[in-house]
Amino acid sequence: MEPLDRSTIWPYDEQGEPGEFYYQRYAHPIGTAAEQKLGELDGGHALLFPSGAGATTALVLTELEPGATIALAAGAYFGTGTLFARLEPWGLRVVEFDQTGPPPEGVQLVWLEAPSNPFLTMPDFEAAAAHPAPVVVDATAATPIHLRPLERGADFVLHSATKFLAGHDDVLLGAIVCRSEDDASRLREFRTQTGIVAAPDPSWLLLRSLETLRVRVERQTATARELARMLSAHPAVETLRYPGFGGLMSFDVADGNAARRVETSTRLIANATSLGGVRSVMETRRRWEGDRVPAGLLRLSVGLEDLERLWSDLEQALERV
Ligand code: PLP
Repeated sequence: MEPLDRSTIWPYDEQGEPGEFYYQRYAHPIGTAAEQKLGELDGGHALLFPSGAGATTALVLTELEPGATIALAAGAYFGTGTLFARLEPWGLRVVEFDQTGPPPEGVQLVWLEAPSNPFLTMPDFEAAAAHPAPVVVDATAATPIHLRPLERGADFVLHSATKFLAGHDDVLLGAIVCRSEDDASRLREFRTQTGIVAAPDPSWLLLRSLETLRVRVERQTATARELARMLSAHPAVETLRYPGFGGLMSFDVADGNAARRVETSTRLIANATSLGGVRSVMETRRRWEGDRVPAGLLRLSVGLEDLERLWSDLEQALERV
């Protein structure tokens, strides 16, 4: 592994000129190494940020001017919508649209999520690529193992690296992968000036985690596919949402009380938020997202535990419905 260099400064060379690294806010060795690796995985120019939300903020402030409108996929991660609402006093406008069809006319940025969290819809990539505005795809739940949005016409990929990329529920990080070097340079400059930079320690943990990304995600997908099949056949499960790949799914039981009983009855699956870790977690989403999700909706992120143990845990919890 790359050594973890926590320096904030590096000496200039013999001529008194700065080398590749001189002050941490501009760049640091471990962050650059992690960006190189993620850039290869997604086929673009990667930049790290201290969280997925930080990456989102940096991207819209770099790309848009006051008065600009974002077309946001309805049902995308609720925090993205609340973040954009925060920026409305600075002149940002947002319209929601159904990402399974074409984005609306007259917008300056198209924001997709593949698959959306927690509704698990997939965007119409062709329709979005045909739109004149730049296209962002939040591919947090897909990861580059299942989807490379830059090959599907996107200009930017956004990751909450906190999830599958880092994968162990011990790192908060975000990333943007740009198709063009120009976009990456403008975003890097904005990042340096605003200080929305990722520190060396989480960057090192990400680099370590990327070594196992493929085996983790392939195993999570294999287990999740089976669980989705079994859950959809269970009499207590009314609706099952799963795009056919990845470790994330959601399903509905009768109502909020039933969902609360299920989430608090699992023993192996932790009743906790987030997704993408090596340990399975499940929670009702009503507590965070309010009326925009069904009261009985449970979101399940599948980890690396054995399928049989996960299914027996879910089965005994679903008996409480
Ligand atoms: N995008 C998606 C799809 C997410 O699920 C999340 C967090 O849950 C984010 C972005 C925000 O990422 P972070 O929590 O790393 O700021």
